[in-house]
Amino acid sequence: MKIYADNAATTAMSEAAIEAMTKCMREIYGNPSSLHTVGQTAMEELDRAREEAASLLGCRADEITFTSGGSESDTQALTSAAAIGERKGKKHIISTAFEHHAILHTLDALKKRGFEITLLPVPENGLISPDAVRDAIREDTCLVSVMFANNEIGTIQPIREIGAVCRERGVIFHTDAVQAVGHVHINVVDDNIDMLSLSAHKFHGPKGVGILYAKKGIRLSNVIFGGAQEKGKRAGTENLPAIVGMVAAMKEACDGIDKAKDYLIPRRDRLIDGLSKISHSIVNGDRDSRLPGNVHMCFEGIEGESLLLLLDDRGISASSGSACTSGSLDPSHVLLSIGRPHEIAHGSLRLTLDESITDEAVDYMIKNVEEVVSYLRKISPLWNEKVSGEREFILN
Ligand SMILES: *Cc1c(COP(=O)(O)O)cnc(C)c1O
Repeated sequence: MKIYADNAATTAMSEAAIEAMTKCMREIYGNPSSLHTVGQTAMEELDRAREEAASLLGCRADEITFTSGGSESDTQALTSAAAIGERKGKKHIISTAFEHHAILHTLDALKKRGFEITLLPVPENGLISPDAVRDAIREDTCLVSVMFANNEIGTIQPIREIGAVCRERGVIFHTDAVQAVGHVHINVVDDNIDMLSLSAHKFHGPKGVGILYAKKGIRLSNVIFGGAQEKGKRAGTENLPAIVGMVAAMKEACDGIDKAKDYLIPRRDRLIDGLSKISHSIVNGDRDSRLPGNVHMCFEGIEGESLLLLLDDRGISASSGSACTSGSLDPSHVLLSIGRPHEIAHGSLRLTLDESITDEAVDYMIKNVEEVVSYLRKISPLWNEKVSGEREFILN
């Protein structure tokens, strides 16, 4: 059996997206900046895509900037809000300890430029409280950035309430919604969001394309300099096929959110319940406020990397989280942020499902994870010391 259960890393493209892109590549090859008819046809297609994306997010078309994806959108959002703050003498930024590295590393760069960064600690359930944000806001705070849904443990934050706190205090609120768009309902006006990042390849669109939404009045600073594309805020000839493919995938995903939830949540929960029967294991992240397709567990006494390589041999594409995949031996900063000890954080497994998942696949994953965990424990000296009582178990 072949199961792709790593949809938080990237998704397969939808037929609708492939079709829209192919048609665009064949027929609409002009440069939207050209004044002739071929160019203007491309410009009209670009305008249409922008209108459609805006209507799906609940904003105006001129509030949408097309980018190369989540990382670029995050970088541009943070550096723009920081520049606005700096002009007013406000150089304090609030974010959280479990953000994606696109946020954390941009904050590192801003810190070197003299900004003070407060990273809110994350409670064990993986949910940032609006009160924690309120308490951290100061007179010189220029930006709050809290991710909509975490890419490892899948927890969905109380974004509307956090946005309301920021609005009350007149602070710009950005959310990295890369894991959330197309999976949970979002309306930037109702949800009090000033800036939002999204990436197409997390909702069955193409890789290398995304959107930065910035509310009217928030001035963007360039990350990429050059021509006057995207109102002069993002230079470079627009990647029209990718943009058109993204919007087709976004429409399909946003229209299908309720149906996907109804299908995925029971299967996600059955998978979590099945895997929880493995002894000395723990579920990471709140059980209810979590992405419909996200399963994230730690198993004591094993290495996540060994687990996922053996699962790969059995046809299951899984992940141990994210940081370890880069070859670093540090456990995930997300798991450490919710208080998992290093040893436990090393034994992590993330299974992220899409609607192609079947009941048989869920059963197959439960059975195979059980077998592989039990095999890895048998050959682990550390585990055997625990079994013989020389060492204490950490998890029940
Ligand atoms: C994938 C991801 C990103 C990066 O998006 P890219 O389009 O791959 O650059 C940023 N934030 C989160 C939460 C993500 O899951």
